[in-house]
Amino acid sequence: MPDSTGNCDFIALSNDSYRLLLDEVGAFVYTTDMVGRYTFANRMVLQLLGHPLDYVVGKDISHFFGDKGNEALRETDERVLRGGETIAREESNLILATGELRTYWSTKKPLRDATGQIIGMIGISHDITEKKRLEDKLRRQKELLDALVDNVDALIYMKDANRRFLYANRRMADAFGCSVDQIIGSLDVDLMPAEVAERFWQQDQKILANGQRHACEESLVDASGRLRHYWSVIIPWAGPDGTPAIIGLSTDITELHALKEELQRQARADSLTGIANRRSFYESAEHEFARSRLQGRALSLITIDIDFFKKINDTLGHPMGDRVLQEFVACCQDALRTEGLLARTGGEEFCILLPGTDLDAARHIAERIREQTQARRIAVPAQELRISASFGVAGLCDTDERFETLYSRADLALYAAKQQGRNRTSLLRSPAQEGASSSMT
Ligand code: GH3
Ligand code: MG
Ligand code: MG
Repeated sequence: MPDSTGNCDFIALSNDSYRLLLDEVGAFVYTTDMVGRYTFANRMVLQLLGHPLDYVVGKDISHFFGDKGNEALRETDERVLRGGETIAREESNLILATGELRTYWSTKKPLRDATGQIIGMIGISHDITEKKRLEDKLRRQKELLDALVDNVDALIYMKDANRRFLYANRRMADAFGCSVDQIIGSLDVDLMPAEVAERFWQQDQKILANGQRHACEESLVDASGRLRHYWSVIIPWAGPDGTPAIIGLSTDITELHALKEELQRQARADSLTGIANRRSFYESAEHEFARSRLQGRALSLITIDIDFFKKINDTLGHPMGDRVLQEFVACCQDALRTEGLLARTGGEEFCILLPGTDLDAARHIAERIREQTQARRIAVPAQELRISASFGVAGLCDTDERFETLYSRADLALYAAKQQGRNRTSLLRSPAQEGASSSMT
């Protein structure tokens, strides 16, 4: 017991007291002689061996443990007894009494007499079987988890509130063209362009602040320079030391994204000619109409109908009719180059929307297409086919409230072109454009 000055008196313990102490120490404690026979064993050893001390003393390990591992044990004991080494290591014993293989952390030291001569060995062992079992289980679980996260088609990462990566799976490393170890501990700005990292960081901060799971589509240029698309789920999480962090799971949807874009493109395109279809034309036209009105910018529309097309179908067949439609589109594209939006709005009916183009310029464009159309020779079996088309042109005026008004004017002009004998361009000005009365030319 410490006295008032804090010093402790040494109390000489009796043999029984030492025995009691060794029994309560919570470890296996034993001594052996020079040939490995027990000279002492504490209560835990005796319980394990299932025999009293007087039975155990004088017998070596072969009486109590299976052969498995005995060679290694003997070798260690030799190094302690003959070499005077102190050895601390993991050992396994097959307990014959129970048939159980148990694992220990054992320290073995030589026992010496008063002259320093080795007379035996003292062993202290802690049973770590349970700890080992848990470690093995944890290791197996980690291997399984690693196999899962490395093979799932997603980038998985954990980032702390200071933009530092705490975890990354193999896919993540592949995407950035580096190793997992290089990612862990780096900042997002070390791995990606500053503006991309900043965009992600803005988003991460919101998630860290509101503690809400967030799902969104993200894009990133990978190590090979390919733009890849991900469906990302970002979860607020407590990092390993309890500090705020986020976990991100970004599933690669690049192929799906391309498919979606292709489907969207197909939904907007005419399958025969590849140009915009009626639906997509009207969407763009409404949008352009509103924008042109707002900006006070010119906007013109040409409506087109191929002349006597039914006759082409009737005499040459529907497939040849299709060919003519494709040839006509090629004609329009040649004449238009990059101007305007060309669309197929019906069977042999087309529209061209011309933002920033006034009526007169639009009429010139229509004429250019008309002339090129009638000059074109379409090769059909045994003859050369010539076609023509009629054109109606109208331009946006201040009184046009809706796109339909502009469209109706262009359509009326087209009707007039047909009435006047086809293969011509007709233009219809609104009363506002023409003063008091409308004019057809
Ligand atoms: P007009 O000079 O008055 O315009 O006479 P038209 O024969 O061109 O006019 P009409 O509207 O009578 O004929 C249009 C024809 O277009 C009728 C239809 O069979 C044909 N048609 C519609 N869609 C297609 C298509 O996708 N392919 C083919 N080959 N023909 C089509
Ligand atoms: Mg028609
Ligand atoms: Mg026609």
